[in-house]
Amino acid sequence: MPAQVISGTEIAKQIREELKEEIAGLKEQHNLVPGLVTVLVGEDPASQVYVGAKEKTSKALGLYSERHDLAADTSEEALLALISRLNNDPKIHGILVQLPLPKHINETRVLYAIDPRKDVDGFHPVNLGKLMIGEPDYLPCTPHGIQQLLVRSGIEIEGAEVVVVGRSNIVGKPIANILLQKKEGANATVTVCHTRTRDISAHTRRADIIIVAAGRPKAITADMVKEGVVVIDVGVNRIGKTAEGKSILVGDVDFEAVKEKARAITPVPGGVGPMTITMLMLNTVKAAKLAAGLI
Ligand code: NAP
Repeated sequence: MPAQVISGTEIAKQIREELKEEIAGLKEQHNLVPGLVTVLVGEDPASQVYVGAKEKTSKALGLYSERHDLAADTSEEALLALISRLNNDPKIHGILVQLPLPKHINETRVLYAIDPRKDVDGFHPVNLGKLMIGEPDYLPCTPHGIQQLLVRSGIEIEGAEVVVVGRSNIVGKPIANILLQKKEGANATVTVCHTRTRDISAHTRRADIIIVAAGRPKAITADMVKEGVVVIDVGVNRIGKTAEGKSILVGDVDFEAVKEKARAITPVPGGVGPMTITMLMLNTVKAAKLAAGLI
């Protein structure tokens, strides 16, 4: 049986439709318009694309959207002053500072300066701590998107052996925590692998679900997985350019070979990617409802 290819594009579209309806309802019933601000420092081309996409999606869903593009030589002090102002602006419910920041700015200091109630990226230690104890306000966007891909594709997570490859603070560690929670859409047994894991295949071969966020093409090959596995490929690797000059993107999984053994698999692009921005919108709506005392 060929693997079910899980379309992040389709699932993200479904969630966006639901959000659009909810946002219209909030305006109609409570005169509440969730507001998202994006802050970009410098001119990194990839960051400009990401911020542009976030702004476009916000507007398409009916959110209030604000964008601050700052020069690459903006001082840390000036950025912190802007964040302080946005923390106190009632129109703004979510603040997103696009990473990476220029080297002269301390990223940690900046992320810690965002009011945790407006931290719709879910990276503030208060929000990560709440996730750890099972009482999250905001889940980090990419891991939340991964959980939604699994749940909405009807994949049984409860009791499953899940192997996460990668232990970053933005993907590996939070997705492991999310799927470990004593909650619906979780309750998995989770193993986390990394570059110091002695025998990765020994773990991946017994996994029911593998989530790969390593940033290495072909980190997972067909001999490393069992028949019937579900594979979520988070990796985005640029491996060259087409004749037209467009980047060629691949994930971390040897897609063509692994899909012959898998029950379900996400493609790259069109898998996890479209979910990340969608979950950012979802967090912004939640932030607005929390601020208005609606939840
Ligand atoms: P990261 O911070 O570079 O972390 C990579 C992790 O993978 C590290 O923990 C590393 O182990 C581990 N690792 C690397 N190679 C490995 C291998 N061959 N075997 C086992 N473990 C290995 O990366 P990240 O920020 O989590 O991102 C991972 C990938 O996901 C990247 O390609 C990134 O572009 C992509 N990504 C996509 C989205 C999206 O929305 N689609 C969002 C975020 C990230 P050590 O800790 O031992 O070094």
